[in-house]
Amino acid sequence: GDFAVETDTIVIGAGPGGYVAAIRAAQLGQKVTIVEKAELGGVCLNVGCIPSKAMIASSHKYHDAKNSEDFGVSTEGVSLDFSKVQEFKNGVVKRLTGGVESLLKGNKVEIVRGEAYFVDANKLKVMDEKNSQTYEFKHAIIATGSRPIEIPGFKFGERIIDSTGALALKEAPGKLVVIGGGYIGTELGTAYANFGSEVTILEGTKDILGGFEKQMTQPVKKNLKKKGVTIVTEAMAKSAEETENGVKVTYEAKGETHEVEADYVLVTVGRRPNTDELGLEEMGVKMTDRGIIEVDKQSRTSIDNIFAIGDIVPGLQLAHKASYEGKVAAEAISGEKSEVDYLAMPAVCFTEPELASVGFTEAEAKEEGFKVKSGKFPFAANGRALGLNQTDGFVKLVTREEDGLLLGAQVAGVGASDIIGELGLAVETGMTAEDIALTIHVHPTLGEIPMEAAEVVLGRPIHSM
Ligand code: FAD
Repeated sequence: GDFAVETDTIVIGAGPGGYVAAIRAAQLGQKVTIVEKAELGGVCLNVGCIPSKAMIASSHKYHDAKNSEDFGVSTEGVSLDFSKVQEFKNGVVKRLTGGVESLLKGNKVEIVRGEAYFVDANKLKVMDEKNSQTYEFKHAIIATGSRPIEIPGFKFGERIIDSTGALALKEAPGKLVVIGGGYIGTELGTAYANFGSEVTILEGTKDILGGFEKQMTQPVKKNLKKKGVTIVTEAMAKSAEETENGVKVTYEAKGETHEVEADYVLVTVGRRPNTDELGLEEMGVKMTDRGIIEVDKQSRTSIDNIFAIGDIVPGLQLAHKASYEGKVAAEAISGEKSEVDYLAMPAVCFTEPELASVGFTEAEAKEEGFKVKSGKFPFAANGRALGLNQTDGFVKLVTREEDGLLLGAQVAGVGASDIIGELGLAVETGMTAEDIALTIHVHPTLGEIPMEAAEVVLGRPIHSM
């Protein structure tokens, strides 16, 4: 219609950034509208974090079922019904997206379906297949997320797929080529290797999982090798050609051209922000040439009443970062003094073993000018890790030498994604190695490893020399 619907705060995109921002803004008394053109929950719940972790869990079940002789368990006739893998994964997604809908409704957030774009700094138009409706708002929060980058020579299709395609396959491919050894490619590559696919990872740079320290990725590479995954580094993917029932990938490495055939090629070389079709440029919202929106510490863009969060602003493209920024933006709009502080922002990779990092690495801390004392404790010296037969990896604590203040922590090992929680809390609240060492940790658990690493920092470990 012609009239504009009035609202206090309008949120564009219902991913982990947008839906969290909407709920917090509503909790703080605002009238909130959220616009979503696809599914509630965004990439994370529908085609990202949640389905990938469900699929990884299925892949572990299958792989472990066939590889538990060390535990005295031998199995025969283990089989894989991939449609059930999909069914399980889809069920998890459905429960969570349904949960998001109930939460939004419970908080009286108005849910609008359609694609939004800005008319001006106080008006937004939402289009669905038939209608368009204008909304007039006091504040807007842009949370439109990101999409996979397509590279020349690899037009997405039936055999050339992105992460969404890889999560929706009807069978485990006999052969899978993964282009890009970032966390998404490595996680999905690991999952399919567990399902029995012959996996090749082609990485353009010198190493896979470049976001993590080399000493952390070492056990991951060892494990991938054990699963039969081929990793080719400094490989430049050139082109892919769909064949009758597969795909032929051409790449260059060490000055030579190679060809590899596969059932599918998964291209995961990064994600592009969804900021190109919102009318932002016309409004004068400041962005980098890559479409990343510039924001201040309250997630405010160059236009005072418009905020931006999640994958479209600088920093890691991770769900918990989007949600964190969403809360800050909603609170700022409500007049609170909230500001982002990224020091305790964890990064995680769900490979085998898992990798997790929070705060500064040793090198970063030194670059920042700190005198550093670090302590490292191996999983192999922990009773629980031994009992789980998963002894690869370590916990490393990076502290300020003068007083043991925890500046950062890195964990490579089983359960790293959970262990990092305690260390994030410690960084956030300014704890020292002594605080961690004095905290009583349950025996026997993986949780003891950070405590032992803290004792190493203090120079008095019980369980290592
Ligand atoms: P999104 O989740 O992308 O949501 C944006 C929403 O906005 C979408 O629903 C979109 O439809 C909607 N939208 C866009 N434009 C418009 C418009 N004009 N009008 C209306 N609606 C619009 N992160 C982790 O932290 N941990 C993980 O384990 C993890 N695993 C991942 C695995 C995979 C395979 C992928 C692809 C990503 C993974 N991520 C993970 C990253 C995570 O999914 C993203 O960082 C997160 O979803 C970003 O949240 P967001 O709210 O910024 O955007």
